[in-house]
Amino acid sequence: FKIGGRMTRKVKIGNIYVGGGQSVKVQSMCTVKTSRVDEVCEQIAALEDAGCEIIRVSVLDEEDAAAITAVKSRINIPLVADIHFSAKLAVAAIEAGCDKVRINPGNIGGEDKVKLVADCIRAHGIPVRVGANTGSIERQYLEKYGVSERSLVESALHSVAMLEKYGINNIVISVKASSVPLTVRSYRLLSRRTGYPLHIGVTEAGTYRAALVKSSVALGALLLDGIGDTMRVSITGDPVREIGAARDILRAVGLEKDFADVISCPTCGRCQWDSSGLAEEVSALVQNCRKPLKIAVMGCVVNGPGEAAEADIGIAGSKDYCVIFKKGKLLRRVPAAEARTEFLKEIKDLTDG
Ligand code: SF4
Repeated sequence: FKIGGRMTRKVKIGNIYVGGGQSVKVQSMCTVKTSRVDEVCEQIAALEDAGCEIIRVSVLDEEDAAAITAVKSRINIPLVADIHFSAKLAVAAIEAGCDKVRINPGNIGGEDKVKLVADCIRAHGIPVRVGANTGSIERQYLEKYGVSERSLVESALHSVAMLEKYGINNIVISVKASSVPLTVRSYRLLSRRTGYPLHIGVTEAGTYRAALVKSSVALGALLLDGIGDTMRVSITGDPVREIGAARDILRAVGLEKDFADVISCPTCGRCQWDSSGLAEEVSALVQNCRKPLKIAVMGCVVNGPGEAAEADIGIAGSKDYCVIFKKGKLLRRVPAAEARTEFLKEIKDLTDG
């Protein structure tokens, strides 16, 4: 298979593009009420620093809609307004300058209201995300197909058709479930049915550890299939953690390459030095490195250098000495007591140079 092989329509959101072969964009959502502008901007700044590329805020009332103008003037990434049940608020958010809206045409208040919002979206030239999750499947599809990939996809495509009818074609689609198999099946089916870019994610994924595992499995499977143009790792709690998790998933599937990958063995009875401690230290040291590097910390000189032969720099130890190697070739042998300092110096040269 070919990673990223699926070509979708290119959609512009603020100053970036999604779909059409662009890199997969990482997004998150603010947990603060949008009208609390200072707190929202503070949270967005932290998310931006962590590598967030698109941010969504919820619009619950007029104050939230009005706050969009102020928030937008203070952030650098595209701002998406999430509105449900109110065409009036959707229009207010668009007029306040959001870069994209997330709506559900099925709950916006009928055909006239869909047209009103669609006209406003078109007039402002912004894109829109629609979609379904297991809690918002249209009744007609729920009755026909139950909670399944079929009902999720039909429901999402029904929302798409409701907007296409009014000339909207800058659309991003999502079909989220909290079940990993259902999420994967739904996006695979959806990707065969549409050329619009897809926003992928597992909904209500849970607290940190569960969310990490569910999102890694589901988004990993989809990204390896070339499915997904924007992604969110939903984690209950501080959204900044979502960004690190999303970046790690992109790295694991090979879609993000500019980082230092620390390879370390699990150690076994052959290990006679503190390779685990050094592996942790090295990982912390290079976590902000944006160079494509492979660094190995291996437990023993017997198997370490061979197993980590592709590393740009590596170390493997024994009771009395360690070997430092580059691309599988021995660089030098150092006494155990000096190994840590010597190796960290080599890494600093590589990452700084
Ligand atoms: Fe064990 Fe050596 Fe393999 Fe590490 S590299 S797991 S210490 S055999």
